[in-house]
Amino acid sequence: MRKCSLDSMNSVFAEIAKAATLYIPADRTDGAAVYTKWEEGVVWSNALNTVRSPKDFFFPQMENLMEFKTQGKNIEIIDTRSETEDFVVFGVRACDVKSFEILDRVFLSEPVDSYYAARRAHGVIISLACTRPSETCFCGTFGINPAEPAGDISVWKTETEVFFRSNTEKGAALMQKLEALTEECTEEAVDAQKEKISAVMKKLPLADLTTEGFGGGKTKELFDNPAWDELSQTCLGCGTCTFVCPTCQCYDIKDFNTGKGVIRYRCWDSCMYSEFTRMAHGNNRNSQKERFRQRFMHKLVYYPENNDGLFSCVGCGRCLAKCPISMNIVKVMKKIGGNNK
Ligand code: SF4
Ligand code: SF4
Repeated sequence: MRKCSLDSMNSVFAEIAKAATLYIPADRTDGAAVYTKWEEGVVWSNALNTVRSPKDFFFPQMENLMEFKTQGKNIEIIDTRSETEDFVVFGVRACDVKSFEILDRVFLSEPVDSYYAARRAHGVIISLACTRPSETCFCGTFGINPAEPAGDISVWKTETEVFFRSNTEKGAALMQKLEALTEECTEEAVDAQKEKISAVMKKLPLADLTTEGFGGGKTKELFDNPAWDELSQTCLGCGTCTFVCPTCQCYDIKDFNTGKGVIRYRCWDSCMYSEFTRMAHGNNRNSQKERFRQRFMHKLVYYPENNDGLFSCVGCGRCLAKCPISMNIVKVMKKIGGNNK
């Protein structure tokens, strides 16, 4: 474990930025925190979390996959990928770090998504323990401890100091570059901080929310639950919940004719959209109820069924804050699941 003063963090950022492109949470003019490329003058945000999750760094909203050029009957296929450069994402909260495990199981399973894999190989994640979890946080429901964030390097911040612990080879290599700017300290240095965070977590409004009643093997029972009608009634199908979610990973692939060739690109899609996975015969889910049910069944039943019980929600609370009709996964869990009230 190493530490430095909070005042010297600018020098730490500058040192990291010498080795790789560095992104940190910084406030936009409207006050919302967004990941921003660090350069002199960019100030580390005090916000609890960023509006959009750091999944963008590994699974961007839009990316070109390849290009086709035709000449007569010949088709030339061009790999449009440029070499992924090393980058560091600083200040990732424990919930968002966990989301990478969920995304990895999708994109790194055979057949491996080489676009995602390249970014994972080149990215270093520096996490940040939460000092002020919000009323919409429920990471604890999924066994995540905001006082012990994972990542390549874990960071704790107090009023005056910042503490670093490397957890992986990548993290240790980066910490070596920061040796002159940091000094050694014991692990106990952050014990008080961890206890404070745990005490706040116990008092959060969603502290008692459990996954009881969900998980693999519940498909028949939950799929047919009559509560889906009422829960989905006012859903606008806007897709906001899926786009702010760090674990949602649906995408569409399309071809765009530039006039000089065809670019094949992929972009985020949403299971909340009526066009989603439309096939030649039409759509498998014709009502908003079916689409709404799919999103929550996937996170709470299908994903854990296929992934050793791992749920595909990390309790980040973004969908609670952003849904225009205040519908969200917590309301679904309370209405449909076990003992949740
Ligand atoms: S479903 Fe909501 S709370 Fe869960 S990870 Fe996605 S945005 Fe966060
Ligand atoms: S649940 Fe809310 S955010 Fe999600 S699609 Fe429906 S209205 Fe939009």
